[in-house]
Amino acid sequence: MSHLNSHLKKIKLHFSKEKKLNQSVEDEMIAKNASRLVVLIPAIGVVNLAHIFYFIINFTPTTLLEEKWVTGIVFIHAVSAVIALILTLTFIHINKKKATYLHLKIIENFVALFILILGISLVSVDQYVTTNITPFLVVCTVLGLFIIKRPLAAILQYAVALISFFVLMTIFQTEPAILATNQLNGITFVAIGLCISLLSWHSGRSAILQQRKITEQHHKLEEIAYYDHLTGLINRWKWLQYVDVELEKNYFPGKESCILLLDIDFFKQVNDQYGHPIGDQVLKQLAQILKNEVGSQGDTARWGGEEFIILLPGVSLSKSIAIGEQIRQRIAQTPFNIENHQIHITVSLGATLLEHDSDFMDAYKRADQALYIAKNNGRNRLEYIVDPA
Ligand code: GH3
Ligand code: MG
Ligand code: MG
Repeated sequence: MSHLNSHLKKIKLHFSKEKKLNQSVEDEMIAKNASRLVVLIPAIGVVNLAHIFYFIINFTPTTLLEEKWVTGIVFIHAVSAVIALILTLTFIHINKKKATYLHLKIIENFVALFILILGISLVSVDQYVTTNITPFLVVCTVLGLFIIKRPLAAILQYAVALISFFVLMTIFQTEPAILATNQLNGITFVAIGLCISLLSWHSGRSAILQQRKITEQHHKLEEIAYYDHLTGLINRWKWLQYVDVELEKNYFPGKESCILLLDIDFFKQVNDQYGHPIGDQVLKQLAQILKNEVGSQGDTARWGGEEFIILLPGVSLSKSIAIGEQIRQRIAQTPFNIENHQIHITVSLGATLLEHDSDFMDAYKRADQALYIAKNNGRNRLEYIVDPA
C-alpha cells in the first residue's frame, strides 16, 4: 500500500512539474503560433479559391445529387475564403497594434474552430457522392502542426473534433458499412493528429527552454567577460567598445568628447598599512563614488589595478575638467570607513579631448601623459593635454 502511495506521489510530482514547465512557455508558444497563422490563414484562402475555380471550370454535375454536392462544396469554400480574408486583415491590424496575449489566444482558438468546422462540413457534404474523408485527416494534421496547444487543451480539441465528426457522419453517411469504416478511420486520424500535436508541443517547449538556457549562459559569460568582479564596473574591453561607438558618433561635426584617466595616489601605502583586503574595499567604495559623480554623463571603467577611466561623450573639455575636479575634491574630502579605519586617499587625473580623427590609443597616451604630469606636480590634481603632441 505504501509502495502504491509513493508511486502515486511520484506521478503527482511529475505532473505538477510538467504543468509548471508548460505554463512557463505558454506565452512564447502563443506568439510562435501567431507567426505560423499569419502564413496558414492566407494559404487556406488560396486553397479555397483554387477549389472553387476547379469546380467551376472543370466539373459539370450530371445528377441532382452531384449538383447538391458541388453547390455545397463551392459554398463552403466561398464562406471560408471570406473568413480567411477577414482573419488576414485582423492579423495585419493586430500586428500594428502589438497584440496582447489574450488577443492572440482568442484568435488562435477561433482559427482552430474555423479549421475544424471547415473540414468537417466539407467531409459531410462529400458524403452525398463519395466516401472520402480526406479533409478530416487534413484538419487533424494541420491543427497538430500549426496551432500548438498544451497537452490537455489538445486532448480536449481532438475530443471535440472526434465527437462532431461522428455526429455529422451519422447524419450524412447512410451506408452502414461506409459509416463504420469512416468512423474507424476518423478515430485513427484523430489519434495521428493528437500525436503530432503532443510531439509539436514537446519539441517546441524544449526549443524554448533551450534558448532560454543559452541566453542565460550568454548573459553570465558577458558578465564575466565585461564586468570587473571587485567593483562591478565595466572592464577595459567593454569600455573600449563604448569608445569605438563614440568615435563613430564623433564624425558628426560640432561634438566633443573627453576622457579622464584617474589613478589613486600612493595606493601601495594603503595596502602596506591596512592590508590588501581593505585596499580592495577602498577600490570598491571609490568605484561607487565615481558612478555617483559621473552618473549619466559618461561611462566609467576599471582600466586595471587602481586606475580608472571615464568617457564623457559629447562633453566639452572645459566641462570635463570641471567634472574631473569635482571628482578629485569629492574623493579628497571623503573618509573611507572600513572596519573601524578611517582612510583618506587622493587621486590624480589626466584629461584629454577625444579627437574625432585619431586612433583611441593616441588619446589614451595624451591622458596618460597628463596624468604623469599631475603625479609629478605633486599629486591630488588634474592636468590636461589638448593638442596631439
Ligand atoms: P602613485 O601615486 O605613483 O600612483 O603611487 P601608487 O602606490 O599608487 O602606485 P603603484 O603603481 O606603485 O602601486 C599601485 C598599487 O595598487 C600596487 C598594487 O598592489 C595596488 N593594486 C592594484 N590592484 C589592486 C587590487 O585589486 N587590490 C588592491 N588591494 N590593491 C591593488
Ligand atoms: Mg597606477
Ligand atoms: Mg597609483
